Amino acid sequence: MSLKVCKFGGSSLADAEHFLKVRAIINSDPERKVVVVSAPGKRFSDDVKITDMLLLCHSMLEQGLDIAPVFQKIRTRYKEIVQDLNIDIHIDALLDETENDMRTIATKDFMASRGEYLCGKIIATWLGARFVEPAEFLQIESNGLIKEETYERLGEQLKGDGLVVMPGFYGCTPAGKVKTFSRGGSDISGAVAARAVRAELYENWTDVNGFMMADPRLVENPKHIETLTYKELRELAYMGANVLHDESIYPVSEPGIPIEIKNTNDPDGSFTRIVARRPKDDRIVTGIAGRKDFYLIQIEKILMNKMVGFGRRFLQIFESHGVNFEHAPTGIDTMSVIVRKEFIGEQLPSILEEIKRTLQPDRLEVTDNLALIATVGQGMIRCVGFAGRLCTALSKRGINLQVIDLGSTQDNMIVGVELNDFEEAVRAIYEEFEQ
Ligand code: ASP
Repeated sequence: MSLKVCKFGGSSLADAEHFLKVRAIINSDPERKVVVVSAPGKRFSDDVKITDMLLLCHSMLEQGLDIAPVFQKIRTRYKEIVQDLNIDIHIDALLDETENDMRTIATKDFMASRGEYLCGKIIATWLGARFVEPAEFLQIESNGLIKEETYERLGEQLKGDGLVVMPGFYGCTPAGKVKTFSRGGSDISGAVAARAVRAELYENWTDVNGFMMADPRLVENPKHIETLTYKELRELAYMGANVLHDESIYPVSEPGIPIEIKNTNDPDGSFTRIVARRPKDDRIVTGIAGRKDFYLIQIEKILMNKMVGFGRRFLQIFESHGVNFEHAPTGIDTMSVIVRKEFIGEQLPSILEEIKRTLQPDRLEVTDNLALIATVGQGMIRCVGFAGRLCTALSKRGINLQVIDLGSTQDNMIVGVELNDFEEAVRAIYEEFEQ
């Protein structure tokens, strides 16, 4: 019998009402045998996610503060769900034990992982399913990649009769310590589970009907995307389309397991399917996504083009600080590096200092109001004049381009604009290519 892995995100598990929807979805298809869960998310816009409360507990412990008042709030959230659904579980004992483990083990990853752990335990009990502990079978290496043997070991645990529930977001280091993925990482856990059981489909259940061609907060009624390729998904998600973690495609893309992004609140409604290849269609642009949080670090040095190894030395400064860079546009005597603010953190002054000391540029400038917009689509490569159309659409609205990068595969064009122009630029590109 073919198998589907269903991952339910935090918004799908926010309260008892959502738990009921989740159960109805699982019960409506006997192929939905493997369930991966996040921690309860927000119930309303200024609510706090369980994971955020757990991370707060961790920083409180680090500062020597008592976590009891915050843990009490976590306790109340879970107890409400258990009581509303009348679940037969010793919830006080489970919560006491978890609070105790958090104080004893106290690592950030362990504490953050407890939201998914508790949620998994409760759902497994409620649904009469087998609970699979990812910290025993899902090995994550220090670079965040999945250890190859995970797939077989985890597959053995997840397969078999009946329903299984696995908490998302965490696994363990090769040394056996609990390790989490980056935020939103339950999506990756779902993909790992799908590959481990060689699923026919990975269903990712969330609170929207899949991807839109642009962010609906910026563009009114954007078109729904029915099919995306793994590559398009990765580029859109990486550049800010916040529906699915961009790293979720790696486990499933090699075996070619499709992903479907579906809405728990509208299970029979439209959804987005993500596949290796989609048939050619008339679409030029599949989607547009953007992020606002970049630094542009530019240097200028006369005769830079003659200094062999100059670019390498410039980039090495970022490497030695452990900072990834996004783009590195070059001119004859100029070179720039674009980095995400979150990657550079507090290290900006020391990076700048090292650039001055080791490269002695004639000019060093940092722009901190750069936004990048990615326009993505496998149809772009066949469209003569695509870049011209995009640039003209922006220039007609008086938007100045700071960076242009048409990736070598010509299916992703990135432009950099000033922060103030970000929203308008997304709208301009959308209107030009909405078909
Ligand atoms: N609960 C974690 C977070 O809030 C992981 C996830 O939901 O995927 O980031």
